[in-house]
Amino acid sequence: MGKCRNCGSLIDDQEKYCPVCGVINPIRVKKEQTVNDTSFLDPVEPDYALYQQRSRFLTFIFFCLLGYSGAGFFYLGYKKRAWLWLSAHLVLIGGLTTLAALTTQIPWYQALIIVFGLLWLVNIGIALYYRIARDVKDATGEFLK
Ligand SMILES: [Zn+2]
Repeated sequence: MGKCRNCGSLIDDQEKYCPVCGVINPIRVKKEQTVNDTSFLDPVEPDYALYQQRSRFLTFIFFCLLGYSGAGFFYLGYKKRAWLWLSAHLVLIGGLTTLAALTTQIPWYQALIIVFGLLWLVNIGIALYYRIARDVKDATGEFLK
């Protein structure tokens, strides 16, 4: 059933003329329903922050300056990885420094600086990766901007 666009009477879809007023092709075409995509991203929603893109540049900075602390992974939302990263650095820094101090003639503070420096290089490598590589995503699967 549809409505005559002239008189508004209810008539069958197959009718070529409105039986009431006689207008040709009387059925009012239904407006196509359009889906508003923006309605899925409601800025007022508390979870909206999940959709905010993380910055490539900030990720780079975090890995450059505070890489050993896991700050970069924390920023991207990889919390488990960040804690592992931090723990691994503490173990490696402590372990390798102790090992070097016990087995070589290098004073412990120099060993500490060397170990720290080597790990820093690893973090700068990761920082550069996040700065240069395409298609890098955060923990929510969102691309970095
Ligand atoms: Zn009509």
